[in-house]
Amino acid sequence: MKEDQIEIVAIGSHPDDVEIGIGGTLAKLSHQGIRTGIIDLTNAEPTPNNEKYRSPDDFDSDYAEKRLVEAQKAAKILGVERITLDLPNRRLFDDFESRCKLATIFRQWQPSIVIVMYGKTLMASPDHYQAQLITEGALFYSRLTKWGKYFDNLPVHRITSLLYFPVRFLDLHPEGFTSMLVDVTNYIDLKQEAILT
Ligand SMILES: [Zn+2]
Repeated sequence: MKEDQIEIVAIGSHPDDVEIGIGGTLAKLSHQGIRTGIIDLTNAEPTPNNEKYRSPDDFDSDYAEKRLVEAQKAAKILGVERITLDLPNRRLFDDFESRCKLATIFRQWQPSIVIVMYGKTLMASPDHYQAQLITEGALFYSRLTKWGKYFDNLPVHRITSLLYFPVRFLDLHPEGFTSMLVDVTNYIDLKQEAILT
């Protein structure tokens, strides 16, 4: 394994998606000495949770900054690296630019295993399902040769495994997939701490 490689990388649309979904699993892996990381595709701003929020287009840069600080604190608690990309919240789509941005991080971090949120969150943010599609595209782009100009000329990287974490209970055993559960009993406190930060 290369020194700067991050072996297992989890992806969500918004800072908090990953810790809510598999924060305990990531804490467990990092405490076993496995280098682990989180990629948030957007900073989740604007958000209706901001007390100054007026309309869906209001953007409060101070609040966005505060949220990024919280995301980094949560990463420290779990013992993982974290990067928050600047793709647009609420307007997240599986498109060429988004795939390239994510594939560039894949080429930098060189993970063996990628874990992404799975499925549609009906009646909630459509960004979640887009994260799945963008990740599936970026995983393919990461290994494409002679296309380096789209990825800061970083060398190709082949990811070995793609895992999904379900957002909804219904998707726990999706058809055609092999499922597994991870016992995070000893890490549930860290997970809660990361979420509440
Ligand atoms: Zn979310």
